[in-house]
Amino acid sequence: MNMVIQKNVSLKNKNTYNIGGKADYYCEPGSIDDILEILQWADSRRVPLLVIGNGSNLLISDKGWPGVVVNLSKNYNKCEWDNNRVTAESGLMLNKLVNQVVDLGFCGMEELSGIPGTIGGGVIMNAGAFSMTLQDTIHTVTYYDLEEKKIYSRKKDELEFGYRSSFLKRKPSIVLTSSFSFEKKCDKEILASKRAEIQAKRRDKQPLDYPNCGSVFKRPEKNYAGTLIETSGLKGMRIGDAEVSGKHANFIINKGNATAEDVRALISLIQKTVLDKTGVMLEPEVIFAGEFKTSLVGTIKTDNS
Ligand SMILES: Cc1cc2nc3c(=O)[nH]c(=O)nc-3n(C[C@H](O)[C@H](O)[C@H](O)COP(=O)(O)OP(=O)(O)OC[C@H]3O[C@@H](n4cnc5c(N)ncnc54)[C@H](O)[C@@H]3O)c2cc1C
Repeated sequence: MNMVIQKNVSLKNKNTYNIGGKADYYCEPGSIDDILEILQWADSRRVPLLVIGNGSNLLISDKGWPGVVVNLSKNYNKCEWDNNRVTAESGLMLNKLVNQVVDLGFCGMEELSGIPGTIGGGVIMNAGAFSMTLQDTIHTVTYYDLEEKKIYSRKKDELEFGYRSSFLKRKPSIVLTSSFSFEKKCDKEILASKRAEIQAKRRDKQPLDYPNCGSVFKRPEKNYAGTLIETSGLKGMRIGDAEVSGKHANFIINKGNATAEDVRALISLIQKTVLDKTGVMLEPEVIFAGEFKTSLVGTIKTDNS
């Protein structure tokens, strides 16, 4: 094994909540070969696997991860252009790609500026903002199927993209590379000013001074999670150091030393209160990793827990 596998690594600084216990094992592969090697290592020892990008949509248990955490954002993050098409390794930060796309004058990604995740995390979630989603420009995704233990490529129309979902979110898999193609060129200055406008809107509307994971709940049909939480009187509600942001009610912020259990309990309280007061069942967008004491309302799929 060429790659270093570390033991007992704190995951607190590997996610944007700054929360979570330790991983039994932790590594930062830099190539597909490294990834295949660590998968084989984990498989042969029956060690549970958690793949992470920038940890910007994850709540990691206070007990940590009882297995190996494979962080793709550190070393598996290159991209290569071929005319109007770019192929990116899944650990590349989406924002870096958006900047390249805008600087080259291609349109279709500028409104995704400021999403603090990687391409891999973005593709499985079909990350989106304002009127754009990753599915708009995606061409092909190459992934490792963890059940069949094979690498496959799928084109956009085979990826079953939906609102914050995709075929790959449902299928145990690791996104390896994604290619995006851009059909239209636009004025570079207009694109850059759109990007600046989007960034300003984020700074204005989101509580970026505190650790958070973006929107905690998905948007319910014909409604907004933030509005429902606010009208249910929950702005500022606090459990431990986890607080419903006063700036944007669909954000839970870590005011200092929030635990994963604090955040989970607040999520559960929000679900119960909003259901009681408005009849709407809020479904978490944040993904839970590891073991939690507090249960959530309804049959929520907690992908990694
Ligand atoms: C301030 C803030 C603002 C945000 N704004 C937005 C927004 O506007 N729109 C939006 O859609 N999201 C937003 N988010 C949420 C988040 O940034 C996105 O969901 C992002 O795409 C997650 O990427 P990640 O690399 O951080 O994934 P992680 O949080 O590391 O992982 C999320 C899930 O993806 C899985 N995963 C990660 N990489 C891979 C891979 N290569 N293969 C397979 N599975 C993988 C993980 O196992 C986990 O289940 C925001 C978050 C923050 C903190």
